[in-house]
Amino acid sequence: MGTYRIAVIPGDGIGSEIVAEALKVLDKVGQTFGHSFTYTQLLMGGAAYDAVGTCFPEDTVPVCREHDAVLLGAVGGPRWDHLSGAERPEKALLKIREGLGLYANLRPALMHRALSAACPIKQEHVGDSMDLLIVRELTGGIYFGEHGWREGRYGQEAYDVERYSEMEIRRIAKVAFEAAMTRRKNLVSVDKANVLETSRFWRRVVTEMSAGYPEVTLSHMYVDNAAMQLVHRPSQFDVILTSNMFGDILSDEASMITGSLGMLPSASLADGSFGLYEPSHGSAPDIAGKGIANPLATILSASMLLRYSLGLNAEADAVDAAVTAVLDAGIRTCDIAEPGKPSVGTADMGKAVCERICPPPSDTKCASLHGEARFCLA
Ligand code: NAD
Repeated sequence: MGTYRIAVIPGDGIGSEIVAEALKVLDKVGQTFGHSFTYTQLLMGGAAYDAVGTCFPEDTVPVCREHDAVLLGAVGGPRWDHLSGAERPEKALLKIREGLGLYANLRPALMHRALSAACPIKQEHVGDSMDLLIVRELTGGIYFGEHGWREGRYGQEAYDVERYSEMEIRRIAKVAFEAAMTRRKNLVSVDKANVLETSRFWRRVVTEMSAGYPEVTLSHMYVDNAAMQLVHRPSQFDVILTSNMFGDILSDEASMITGSLGMLPSASLADGSFGLYEPSHGSAPDIAGKGIANPLATILSASMLLRYSLGLNAEADAVDAAVTAVLDAGIRTCDIAEPGKPSVGTADMGKAVCERICPPPSDTKCASLHGEARFCLA
């Protein structure tokens, strides 16, 4: 029975709608398992710019550090597109990752059986299932390297520098090897070692580290091949380890294979148990305020928060099972509904998940359905 403090950053667009549902789910977990969650709401992104004139208020990092974890919706939108690069809402994401030392981004891409029809790839290529984890380095590489504009030989030019230290590669590779140990023990390190010096260094360090994980099968793949293999045969992957920019691109590709961006959670972890949890998608300004956004990626991010930052595995399992049960029951938001089939709004989807959260199976009120899914008999 614990008491946990969570910093909550709804952000922009659909952020406040989807985060509200994730908080209801956490409250239901609290009631069911006897925990207490308290929330501190913070402004970041465009909402912060409108309120206080900056997308990244100074106290964001210190306030977040006073909490056990951070739950974030999404930031950005056309309303703030006129801002310069350094002032933009998306820059606040880079700042919070850097400020909180969130160097390890975990993005699971799981194909729910009930959603297999939404997969754009032929079933024979996907195989029985797709369940992979992308471990992306988040605070280094080209997104954080030197960048700028200058006069070049042919006039003005712009540049962004990719740079990785051995320490940065080692610590993210350790996360990936250890994640592989808890899964199917298969790790693919993705790089561009045929062209980039940083990739050759990355490959050397990861190969050296594999001696410490003899049970993990390590292979290396060029990023262009990885992009192709993801659509050719995604089920071949277990854990993918990659750099900041390659991970950004490959994780969006993997997410579309599962059927909808609205389904995919992510965790960004620092040393220790602290982490920031957010859906993989953006602020979806095209549907903001309509009450139709899919809150499941944010709810599943809250599940990752329970698991990785609070160590509440049974509670996280209960959330994951409730989401599976909702999908098995045919409840869909419009982004995952089959054409012509009915759909529910954001709040009804959140409610449906809450209704299916129940204590561990040893409790007599719950019975095993199939796979991981459980349902409440009471
Ligand atoms: P997006 O992910 O917001 O939307 C892409 C498409 O997916 C849209 O059609 C949208 O309606 C749909 N979609 C996304 N999430 C959904 C959900 N939960 N339910 C149903 N449909 C959903 O990407 P975008 O349109 O390229 O970006 C919009 C804004 O979000 C931009 O300002 C971008 O910079 C920002 N962004 C923020 C983050 C973040 O906060 N981590 C990530 C990506 C993009």
